[in-house]
Amino acid sequence: MIDPGHNGRNYAHTAEINRLVDIGNGTKACDTTGTSASDGYTESAYNLDVAQRLAALLRAGGATAILTRTTDDGWGPCIDERAAIGNRAHAAVAISIHADGSLTGRGFHVIEPASIPGLTDAIAGPSARLAVDERDAYAQGTGVPYATYIGHDGLDQRSDLGGLNLSKVPKVFIECGNLRNPTDAALLESPAFRARAAASLSAGIQAFLSGR
Ligand code: ZN
Repeated sequence: MIDPGHNGRNYAHTAEINRLVDIGNGTKACDTTGTSASDGYTESAYNLDVAQRLAALLRAGGATAILTRTTDDGWGPCIDERAAIGNRAHAAVAISIHADGSLTGRGFHVIEPASIPGLTDAIAGPSARLAVDERDAYAQGTGVPYATYIGHDGLDQRSDLGGLNLSKVPKVFIECGNLRNPTDAALLESPAFRARAAASLSAGIQAFLSGR
């Protein structure tokens, strides 16, 4: 299950995306607009492009790949529904694709769910392994450095993301780079880079599924 974060017209649906949804240990907005580069290139467009490239690679390898959205001109789905899509599919792997909008620093990081009793404790272990596999594959395949501004060694753990808290299948988020950083933005805006990013994420999923 591949989840391209946000959606291209979330900004035009503020009432809908600001609606609070249950994330298991609190509430959070249904969705957010995501970030963008200084030239206007949007995170939501990046996320969808990499997600579609990744889905094509996985399908070519014989996997079934489902996406939470297939266009960039709508709004949502809400974060609880994004998790539910992977749960209903009994996905072997779920990944949410994002790019960050930090005012300082550059690089990528993979976010794994904190182990929350009764909520994520069953997926925390496999998700942590998935995080390491994706971290290693993305670093090797893209050459993007670990984030300089958050986490450690390209990994972070969070308990406030509904997409992770509500998942019943192994799941991580990847923040593929910092769109507010000119070096990262130039990479993420390149179709050739996005092809490498998707191939790297595919390799990480294969490493995880092979139980290496
Ligand atoms: Zn995002």
